Amino acid sequence: MNPQLRIAGVVKESIVDGPGIRLVVFAQGCRHHCQGCHNPATHDFSGGKLVDIETILDEMQKNPLLDGITLSGGEPFEQPQAFAALARRARQLGYHVIAYSGYRYETLIANKDQQQLLEHTDLLVDGKFDITQKSLLLKFRGSKNQRIIDLNQSRLQNQMILSELN
Ligand code: SF4
Repeated sequence: MNPQLRIAGVVKESIVDGPGIRLVVFAQGCRHHCQGCHNPATHDFSGGKLVDIETILDEMQKNPLLDGITLSGGEPFEQPQAFAALARRARQLGYHVIAYSGYRYETLIANKDQQQLLEHTDLLVDGKFDITQKSLLLKFRGSKNQRIIDLNQSRLQNQMILSELN
């Protein structure tokens, strides 16, 4: 099955959304409504556009410099099955996968569908953007409450393990 994704857009090359050079997919639809959200146009669940997973994978393979893909938003975990399918295929092709979520890891891991997306992801940046904890010094995250979680190590050790990128 190759479900479609509802996305706000794609950035073909980014060096600020995770290590290396990455393609970034912005999911359309988010219910967190964080104060000071950097991307309010992504909140409407009927906005954006529908795309096939293969279209994104084809785009990635046109760029030999890409190290990975970042699933950002919006909220990718509101479309867990479609984004899990994309993440799984991207990893099969050798790409590193990062997902952002306004939900905390503990919430995502308890949901069967959202757990599937975690399963095919290398790093998770979790938690809502909290403007009172905003810092421009942080790498790959906007506020101090957010965590970069090493999902490969978390699977191996059966507990939440923070990435050394924090
Ligand atoms: S989770 Fe991200 S997209 Fe959603 S409201 Fe918060 S900052 Fe905005």
